[in-house]
Amino acid sequence: MPVYFIQSRSIQNDRVVLTGDLAHHLGAVLRCRVGEIVHLVDEDRVRYRSELSQIVEKRIIATILERERPVPRRIPAVTLAQAVLKGDKMDWAVQKAGELGVNVIIPVVTERTIARPRAERARHHRDRWQTIAKEASQQCGRLDYADVKPVVSLDDLFKNPPEASLKLVPWEQEQGRSLKAALQNLKEETSVAILIGPEGGFSPREIENAREAGWVSVSLGPRILRAETAGVAVLAIIEYELNEV
Ligand code: SAM
Repeated sequence: MPVYFIQSRSIQNDRVVLTGDLAHHLGAVLRCRVGEIVHLVDEDRVRYRSELSQIVEKRIIATILERERPVPRRIPAVTLAQAVLKGDKMDWAVQKAGELGVNVIIPVVTERTIARPRAERARHHRDRWQTIAKEASQQCGRLDYADVKPVVSLDDLFKNPPEASLKLVPWEQEQGRSLKAALQNLKEETSVAILIGPEGGFSPREIENAREAGWVSVSLGPRILRAETAGVAVLAIIEYELNEV
C-alpha cells in the first residue's frame, strides 16, 4: 500500500490540503475519486489514513479518518556514498537504495567518475535523485525517504564524513577483510556508511586516503560486481544483519 508524503503544515484540523505534484499524481495520473482512501505520512513519520473528500484541478482535500503513531526511526542509520554512475544507472542505484531503507545518499565524484555532473546541472540532478528516492519510498510503503545530499568530491567526503560509527569501502582488490567480518558488531553500531566506487573503481591513492580517513576496506567476494549491483548487495546484507528481512 503506497504512502504519500505531506508536510504537517498542509494539515488544518482534520483536513489535509494536497497541491502540486501529489495532487497531480492522485488526480490526473491515478484518477482517484472522492471517497477513496489514501495513506499520508508527514515529516514526523505520523501516518494519516484519509478519505479524499474534494478533488478540483490541482487541489485535493482529504479528510483524516485516523492518525497512527509515528514509527520509530530505524537504527542504525545507513548512509550510501555512491560514486556518480553513467546514465540511468545512478537513478537505478538511488531507487534501490530507497527501497532498501537507506537514510542518506551522498553522490560522490571520484578520479574515475565518467559522468561528472556539471556545476550548473548539479541542482537538477540532485532534485531528480531526491524525487526518485521519494517515489521509491512511496511505492514500497516506507514511512520516510532517503535524504539526497549535494554532489561532493571524494576528498570533501573524507574531510566531512557522514555521521557513522562504521564506515565501509567495498574494494575489489581487498584480500584481508570480508564484509561479513566487518559487520560482526553491527547491532551495537549506531550507524553505518558505505562508499561504492564508479564503473572504473577506486584508484590505489583513493583507497589509501579512504583508509586514512577511517573507512574500512572490505571484499564482497571473488566476483567483480557492477557498481550498482555492489551497492544493492551491501545494503541487502545490512538489512539482513539487522534482522529486517
Ligand atoms: N575496478 C573494477 C573494474 O574497473 O572493472 C571494478 C569496479 S566495480 C565495477 C565498482 C565498485 O563496486 C568498486 O569500486 C567497489 O566499490 C565495488 N565492488 C565491486 N565488486 C567488488 C568486490 N568483489 N569486492 C569489493 N568491492 C566491489
